[in-house]
Amino acid sequence: MVLKSLFGMMSSDLSIDLGTANTLVYLKGKGIVADEPSVVAVREGGRGERRIIAVGNEAKLMLGRTPESIRAIRPLKDGVIADFEIAEHMLKHFIKKAHKRKTLVRPRIIISIPSGVTQVERRAVIESAYTAGAREVYLIEEPIAAAIGVGLPISEPTGNMIVDIGGGTTEVAVISMNDIVYAQSVRTGGDKMDEAIIQYMKRKYNLLLGESFAERVKIDLGAAVVENGNEKMEIRGRDLGSGIPKTMTVTAGEINEALSVPIGVIVETVRSTLENTPPELASDFLENGIMLTGGGAKLRNIDKLLNKETGLPIVIAENPLIMVVLGCGRALDDPDLLKTVTTPGR
Ligand code: ADP
Ligand code: MG
Repeated sequence: MVLKSLFGMMSSDLSIDLGTANTLVYLKGKGIVADEPSVVAVREGGRGERRIIAVGNEAKLMLGRTPESIRAIRPLKDGVIADFEIAEHMLKHFIKKAHKRKTLVRPRIIISIPSGVTQVERRAVIESAYTAGAREVYLIEEPIAAAIGVGLPISEPTGNMIVDIGGGTTEVAVISMNDIVYAQSVRTGGDKMDEAIIQYMKRKYNLLLGESFAERVKIDLGAAVVENGNEKMEIRGRDLGSGIPKTMTVTAGEINEALSVPIGVIVETVRSTLENTPPELASDFLENGIMLTGGGAKLRNIDKLLNKETGLPIVIAENPLIMVVLGCGRALDDPDLLKTVTTPGR
């Protein structure tokens, strides 16, 4: 008993939300100790050599601003692990960072991954966590982690619907009795919205916007339903005709138009999930509504649009970006929950 509580005190158990846009780390008893972009900057030498020069915040600042020999890589960009080696480095970096002080006990680590990843990718994540010093590794599906984080009653025989709009993917899931009844994952999320803005500006004004700037425009001016189409913002890019930097003004109406395709994909995914949900569970949504998490849940009026398209109440999680990592943390604290919602990585 005494020994157990001693171990508890020294525990360095971690939960990690390995997202396509952001990686968050939660240290048991301490809270969120890392919240950084899932970006790694690499210097490429001759003979295919690669040296990591920055990870996270520091690396994101380099996106689109690096000389040719340095590349800022997003190893999970489209919801799959595009670059195993870099993903492993990133994971190790964040684990090390969370354990600044010397740890007495090797940690248990629970990692949430996009539900579209393959068996091979799962293995790679598990192996990286073991090499980084984990004692035990567990994987959890992102929508389940998000639902636990939000506090949905997922262990009850009632239908819970969660929509997590991340950077690379949107995950729509119906959960009941601790399990996914039906889920869909599409490779459309915040990144596709940024790309859509870039394409729109190119087509309409022959103006090339940087990725980070397009994200800024989406966050400041983007909306799923426009209230004031004349709201404006100044943007800077490069004129593709003259090659010279140029400043111009865009309206909220234009950005809404630019975003119509990716937003349409998200709406369609929610609709088809509703159509594929057994009617007994679907009727629960009339009362419980649909819960939105992930950074995309912060897009202005996304709740209004989904409400209009489904007729169901829509709830935006209070702090949508941290729900997945909090859900993982809760599962670590509760042995029964851990057993039911995760797969041990051995
Ligand atoms: P992931 O889980 O894939 O890492 P996140 O849940 O961290 O993704 O969400 C990141 C995405 O959310 C990015 O595409 C980012 O641009 C977008 N995002 C963050 N804040 C906002 C906002 N206020 N409005 C619209 N999109 C946002
Ligand atoms: Mg996520």
